[in-house]
Amino acid sequence: MIDRITRFFSLASRDMAIDLGTANTLIYIKGEGIVLNEPSVVMVTERDNDVIAVGAEAKSMVGRTPDTIKTVRPMKDGVIADFKVAEEMLRYFINKARNGRGFIKPKIAVCVPSGITEVEKRAVRDSAEHAGAREVLLIQEPMAAAIGADLPIHTPTGNMVVDIGGGTTEVAVISLDGIVASNSVRVAGDEINEAIDQYLKKAYNLLVGEQTAEQIKLQIGTAYPLDEEETMTVKGRDLVVGIPKTQKVTSRELREATKEPVNSIVNVVLQTLEQTPPELSADIVDRGVILCGGGALLRGIDRLLNKETNLPIRVVENALTCIVEGTGRALDDLERYGKIFI
Ligand code: ADP
Ligand code: MG
Repeated sequence: MIDRITRFFSLASRDMAIDLGTANTLIYIKGEGIVLNEPSVVMVTERDNDVIAVGAEAKSMVGRTPDTIKTVRPMKDGVIADFKVAEEMLRYFINKARNGRGFIKPKIAVCVPSGITEVEKRAVRDSAEHAGAREVLLIQEPMAAAIGADLPIHTPTGNMVVDIGGGTTEVAVISLDGIVASNSVRVAGDEINEAIDQYLKKAYNLLVGEQTAEQIKLQIGTAYPLDEEETMTVKGRDLVVGIPKTQKVTSRELREATKEPVNSIVNVVLQTLEQTPPELSADIVDRGVILCGGGALLRGIDRLLNKETNLPIRVVENALTCIVEGTGRALDDLERYGKIFI
């Protein structure tokens, strides 16, 4: 009977897991899977901060708006930077995910960076509550990633998870349902875009927008030499004469140009390996390192990490979704994962 009541409540309320990322927000609904996956971007009016567009629609407007409209990315380094806009974005996404169904406020599990402060945790709880949650559960992202990647988190074996997102790279060693060692660095996908942008300016006087810099990374960005290097024709504006121009760039020169942020990512992995207790290091030698987050999809990052650490490296198949899936799975099975929530 109790079971049926709980079941009724969770169906009627459409309980959900949310990955409120710096770059992307994903929502998973119990029993349905991922129902929303949109950029964490909001367009607001310059004057009154009225919301004009949210998510995918807002991202398509980046760099194309008049002065009266500005872009807000309410998440920075994995935590809420603009409380008001974050809340509005969350409310919009939650409503979109519920799609008019569910008449009871949902229970919401949100994943947060492992190094988050009490104040930052409170901000996440408050905004989820204001955005319509009945109850808010928090889970550390590396734990969620490990569950989403099917790692055996309940056992006393060490597993290393590296999450390369938009704003931060987080590395954690997990054993017995907890984090044994962790580090994070504020360098990830965004800094690689930034490095591409800077390079094109310096090398070719070529000014490109933020979206173009990211597109170049997705198309020919690499962290390790390719068997056959690639080229791409990039469009932008000439810094000197001000007119549009095109320029051929190669994967090789971009790899050189993005070395610094990529090395920072490698270094935070090395640093965490140094802090790992020896018994667990031995496990990691056998089990390898798991990479997730969109930045893990940069071609060759696994090969580079393998070269630098001598460890087996595996990019999870669901790199962009594994954290929300893990959070959702934990929410689905509170009996098994309940004690992981903080
Ligand atoms: P967050 O959790 O911070 O929101 P995500 O895990 O969603 O971040 O990853 C977003 C980052 O991943 C962005 O910087 C994006 O450019 C990068 N990214 C996504 N796909 C790829 C790809 N195929 N190659 C390289 N980088 C990628
Ligand atoms: Mg993330």
